[in-house]
Amino acid sequence: MTCEHCGAPLRADIERGLFLCDYCGSEMLPPQEDDGVLVLDETRFICPVCGKKLNHGSLEQFGVLHCRGCGGMLIAMDDLEPLVSALRAHRGRPSEYLTPRNAADAERSLVCPRCGGAMEGHPYGGGGNVNVDSCERCESVWMDKGELRKIAAAPDYEPLYLDHGDDRGQ
Ligand SMILES: [Zn+2]
Ligand SMILES: [Zn+2]
Ligand SMILES: [Zn+2]
Repeated sequence: MTCEHCGAPLRADIERGLFLCDYCGSEMLPPQEDDGVLVLDETRFICPVCGKKLNHGSLEQFGVLHCRGCGGMLIAMDDLEPLVSALRAHRGRPSEYLTPRNAADAERSLVCPRCGGAMEGHPYGGGGNVNVDSCERCESVWMDKGELRKIAAAPDYEPLYLDHGDDRGQ
């Protein structure tokens, strides 16, 4: 990507989610994808789902690796909770938006784009009815397109009252 003012190559500022021109000082907003990710420059990492190159992306000031092919993204495990809280702070969507888990997710096994380790699929415990794939080795989480939004749209605190009837006979 080059500067629209002077033609110099732009530098991605991942923290601020901007492209910067070091020559003329211009700042440009990157294109925004469905999940609100600001897409920055391309990386050497490959999407574990569709095989395209991942781009650096910025979401609520957190750096992610985003796939423009399938819309998935890799997030550092430590960033996930603060990121979800940040998204929840301005969510507008009612929580009924939740859809059932995609069962196919649970059966695939992804290879971590960052470290090449095997990722493990499991239901995300914080609400949203989604399966996430996580890599223990480099502590990353893969989210398919829209999954982060579902998690953010879920109620803040979601106790699972699965024990209906447990108190029978008391
Ligand atoms: Zn410039
Ligand atoms: Zn992809
Ligand atoms: Zn990894």
